[in-house]
Amino acid sequence: MPKGNLAGVTRVGDLLRVPSGPVDLPAIDTRATPGFDGDKADAEQAAPALGERLATLQEQLYAEGRAGGSRSVLLVLQGMDTSGKGGTVKHVVGHLDPNGVHVASFGEPTREELEHDFLWRIRKQLPRPGKLGAFDRSHYEDVVTVRVLGLVDADTCTRRYDAVNRFEEELVAGGTRIVKCFLHISRDEQRERLLARLDDPTKHWKYNPGDLDTRERWDDYMTAYGAALERCSSEIAPWHVVPADRKWYRNWAITNLLIEELDALGLRWPEADFDVASERARLLAMP
Ligand code: AMP
Ligand code: MG
Repeated sequence: MPKGNLAGVTRVGDLLRVPSGPVDLPAIDTRATPGFDGDKADAEQAAPALGERLATLQEQLYAEGRAGGSRSVLLVLQGMDTSGKGGTVKHVVGHLDPNGVHVASFGEPTREELEHDFLWRIRKQLPRPGKLGAFDRSHYEDVVTVRVLGLVDADTCTRRYDAVNRFEEELVAGGTRIVKCFLHISRDEQRERLLARLDDPTKHWKYNPGDLDTRERWDDYMTAYGAALERCSSEIAPWHVVPADRKWYRNWAITNLLIEELDALGLRWPEADFDVASERARLLAMP
């Protein structure tokens, strides 16, 4: 039995999707490798073929968009600092044709953004038809971080869960498939990664002293994330918890999740809207 991808047997999406009911994040193993029977070397060996498969599917989506199709895919990445949101964009999305990709990251809202509804800045960054969009943080900051920081009260937060669900329903109805991933790292792993940032001057730009304030409230974040994942995981746009202490597993899992979503679209190369044989004949007749 070859090591590696067991995804032919079970969809990775089914393995990582949060079940309905309360989501107890601390109870979910951050080092597990659901669906993958192997180690880092096996994952690295599997990566090129998986990357190629994803790139072909994405090219088909892009081709469909160019031919007038309206479908798109949106990858939503959430997780604590150092959980690998940026790394996922680099390693998973980075292998795709940049023409077909739209990446957006969401930091603290600007004054202008705060004057609008919390979905205003999100709507502006949605993937156009044919595109694969990737969000490094998202509208979920507005039901997690703002809740932990006490910037909105519980009632507002509850209304926002409903607003998020309606928003996502609208997106799906418009032809966007949403792939939501919570990158789940342990507190110990975060310590290691923050230390690595502090100990390497080339990584200082990624470090923010505020990261430690956030870390201090780890349990509050897990509770707030658990609530958001429970309230906003739906049949049409489910949440996935991706164990992310192992970067190679994280990349493998999210690549597979995207492949599964794109596969489900039943993409085909658009048919030529010209007569191929006569174009060929004309070309060959030219000097
Ligand atoms: P980074 O992803 O490291 O660039 O950090 C972005 C920071 O912006 C994080 O601390 C987020 O929690 C914060 N942030 C993002 N969106 C919001 C929001 N809507 N409200 C408050 N803080 C936010
Ligand atoms: Mg940061």
